[in-house]
Amino acid sequence: MALVTSFRVGSLSCHALEAGCQRLDGGAMFGVVPKPLWERRIAPDERNRIPLALRCLLVEHDDGPVLIDTGLGNKESDKFRDIYGVQNAGRTGPTQLEDALAEAGFRPEEVRWVINTHLHFDHAGGNTFIPLHLPSSPSISHGGRTVGAAPQLSFPNATYVVQQRELEFATHTNERTAASYLEHNFAPVGGAGRWRLANGETELVPGIRLVPTPGHVPFHQSVVIAQGGERACFLGDLVPTTAHLPLPWIMGYDLEPLVTLETKRALLSRAEADGWLLVFEHDPAHPVGRVVREGKSFAFAALDTPSGAG
Ligand SMILES: [Zn+2]
Repeated sequence: MALVTSFRVGSLSCHALEAGCQRLDGGAMFGVVPKPLWERRIAPDERNRIPLALRCLLVEHDDGPVLIDTGLGNKESDKFRDIYGVQNAGRTGPTQLEDALAEAGFRPEEVRWVINTHLHFDHAGGNTFIPLHLPSSPSISHGGRTVGAAPQLSFPNATYVVQQRELEFATHTNERTAASYLEHNFAPVGGAGRWRLANGETELVPGIRLVPTPGHVPFHQSVVIAQGGERACFLGDLVPTTAHLPLPWIMGYDLEPLVTLETKRALLSRAEADGWLLVFEHDPAHPVGRVVREGKSFAFAALDTPSGAG
């Protein structure tokens, strides 16, 4: 697969960026859905893990390039990368995200805004990076052992955006949430004074709207891009893959699955009625498409498939 899939929303150029892939437990990814059903949609490996993309979205906006989510970054240990099957090494920079950005024609220094749907490690991990093989850089301690340099901002001229209450939620974890929120992905942003914290639905710049989509985590947001009568939505973990379009196919990771259900019902109803483009952050094969009705629920329609009533 190419690292960039480009499409337009009105006059806005958008680029889905392949920032690598990871593998997560198939049972956890599909919650209460029995394995004989989900394994027909995405086949598991010998460790029962399914392949998932780490996909981001770049929007070329008059205000400057807007990047939505940042993949997993380069700061995790070899053990972590093995457990989660992470493959995101970069050729030109810290990770494959920088390679994809370059393929779209941009350098990290040019990114004006970085929006995080939420602060889980596979969405905000690339907010920061550790420069490798720089013995003169200051060291940090990681699990008692010293590993390289302190994290730096991957997008040094960007303002980073997240829901204020998601940042609070990520900073005050409990036994159930702690494994997903790794401080080195977001604390350096605060340390550098680079957050713009949103409170609820917000138009960040003309045509790019932050829309709270709770359920996966309480203050998750999706991003709606609207221009010239067309709309696209970066779903984040509301609907991580096209296999999660049916309403009850909800991740076991979700903290409030019944809230996810109602958020999905409302958003997918609008997306189907108005023909929105949908960007799937974790789908291993389909970066973008539309949603169609299938009985009482929803199904995926590839871009060359006619959408809407017929
Ligand atoms: Zn998540």
